[in-house]
Amino acid sequence: MVHAVRDALRSGEHLAVQAGTGTGKSLAYLVPSIRHAIERDTTVVVSTATIALQRQLVDRDLPRLAEALAPVLGRAPTFAILKGRRNYLCLHRLDGGADAPEPDDQLFDPFAVSALGRQVKRMHEWAAKTDTGDRDELVPGVPDSAWRQVSVSARECLGVSRCPVGTDCFAERARHEAGRADVVVTNHALLAIDALENRAVLPEHDVVVVDEAHDLVDRVTGVATAELSAGLVSAAARRCGRLVDQAIADRLAEAGDGLGMVLTDAPLGRWERGLPPPVKGALVTVLDAGASCRTAIGSERREDPAQATARKLALALLDEVTETSARLLKAFDEEDPAKRYDVVWLGEQGPDSSRTRALRVAPLSVGGLLRERLFGQRTVVLTSATLALGGSFDALARQWGLGPEKPTEPDNTEEPDPIPDPERPRWSGLDVGSPFQHQRAGILYVAKRLPTPGRDGLPPAYLDEIAELVTAAGGGTLGLFSSMRAAKQATEALRPRLEQPILCQGDDATGLLVTRFAEDDATCLFGTLSLWQGVDVPGRSLRLVLIDRIPFPRPDDPLVSARQRAVDARGGNGFLTVSATHAALLLAQGAGRLLRGMDDRGVVAVLDPRLATARYGGFLRASLPPFWPTTDPEVVRAALRRLASAGAGITR
Ligand code: SF4
Repeated sequence: MVHAVRDALRSGEHLAVQAGTGTGKSLAYLVPSIRHAIERDTTVVVSTATIALQRQLVDRDLPRLAEALAPVLGRAPTFAILKGRRNYLCLHRLDGGADAPEPDDQLFDPFAVSALGRQVKRMHEWAAKTDTGDRDELVPGVPDSAWRQVSVSARECLGVSRCPVGTDCFAERARHEAGRADVVVTNHALLAIDALENRAVLPEHDVVVVDEAHDLVDRVTGVATAELSAGLVSAAARRCGRLVDQAIADRLAEAGDGLGMVLTDAPLGRWERGLPPPVKGALVTVLDAGASCRTAIGSERREDPAQATARKLALALLDEVTETSARLLKAFDEEDPAKRYDVVWLGEQGPDSSRTRALRVAPLSVGGLLRERLFGQRTVVLTSATLALGGSFDALARQWGLGPEKPTEPDNTEEPDPIPDPERPRWSGLDVGSPFQHQRAGILYVAKRLPTPGRDGLPPAYLDEIAELVTAAGGGTLGLFSSMRAAKQATEALRPRLEQPILCQGDDATGLLVTRFAEDDATCLFGTLSLWQGVDVPGRSLRLVLIDRIPFPRPDDPLVSARQRAVDARGGNGFLTVSATHAALLLAQGAGRLLRGMDDRGVVAVLDPRLATARYGGFLRASLPPFWPTTDPEVVRAALRRLASAGAGITR
């Protein structure tokens, strides 16, 4: 992997590397990256999906490497961490330089007000101690509603030259540090903003290493997704009301109310044929009223910081409202749904008593954007423990906007390409394997004789199967369920039946539950999506990973169904390309929880028989680590019993 990354950085050809847990992949990309940065006097950006990996890189890998490489390189390499502005405490806002907190529903609740007050007080105390102002260092954390009172988005920031406390600003300090560092560690969201929105939030760089690259498309889609609700329009109107003639702000508020009314009557879900006429009318009114507010606020002028802040906060919201309205109005200009850029749907959120509706708009595909703005501009190294699905990188490469992989061996049947097509960036894939001996350390059991899972929760046969497997294993089970409902159902049904304690996600903070699970051999932990990717428990505490069903996305997920249809319309197989790929990635991540250390042994049990029987089952199985496979319940229970009693070595 070290050599492949080095060659990629030299040639400028992109590289995708699958490297199993425990390979040491961060060292394998950091060493050549650091050398590249120092030799070329440039910065290499390393992007991750999770805070845990950011911490590992900045607190462990990079300090060790800096020390080890300094004698060879002639100086110690430098590194920094950089996040979005919203992640840092804004001293100006904390000082009350920005206007009063924006009233939201929660603030009318006296208990919420006092809780919020306590949290803001805590953040004031923390502000006096912290060196970084980085939200992730505030332990325990605070809810978003509290953090919003002491932070600003990039659009809301006054700018360092106008801000009265700009010289002490945490976000500016982090940017400054990053600008001088050889390696900058960031997250996929900031990478996406830098690349897609043409806003230079990261230092100048020619190489990007995307770790946890299996999550790149989802994170980029998240950044490129916008939302519009009546509440957002009202908030923009309130902010404008402090700056412009009240009648102008009132027009925007009324437009927001009008939008709220038409959304109440509009159909929920994805809209395929166009905007319903009343919604279209309401959006045009919002856009007009927003434009009038903008004109009334006028262009930037010399003002005191308090006024400038109020203006910035109003403009940030106003821009969000008008840009999203305009994007929604344009979304159906193209008649053919498969050629449209955006997908539009109406969603609902919040508790039953106060559900609110919002329009959402997201790109049908981010491949084109990534190809043009990321792969077209920089050398990219993508890596993860799970990139090769069904034994090939093609599925993910397609989502990244890359064409087929270039032949790794010289292909004499193909004419050399004298003018490489810039539309098709060249890339190669490499699977460096895993240090684990999957065949000897783990069993993949598929409960082939169980019924296909239905829509009405876990059937009794599933609960019996789980009880038998957990009993044979003596606990130590991580239950990965496809829905919270199923996780809770299994917990409630099995707690009275089993001796082993069962923790369920939601009983307490997930981190604490994972710690309790790791500390006791017999304890089981049942949960859903965040556990599929976020549990790293080496040793005996985890010897059985249970998966209740193949984690296909919901068929009514607006983005998934639109993406599937677009592939079908082009003559492809939408189900395989979109849903099966999504499921394969999650299954591989879930199964990857089993072996985290060289001595780990255990079983991955998939209760959904379709993994063995369906046509797509082969693709999914080929995406999993190569465990020893069986569909015989007796064989797997006997192995689990041996594992439970011997405390080591799983033998067949
Ligand atoms: S420069 Fe921006 S983020 Fe920094 S303190 Fe000022 S307003 Fe806040």
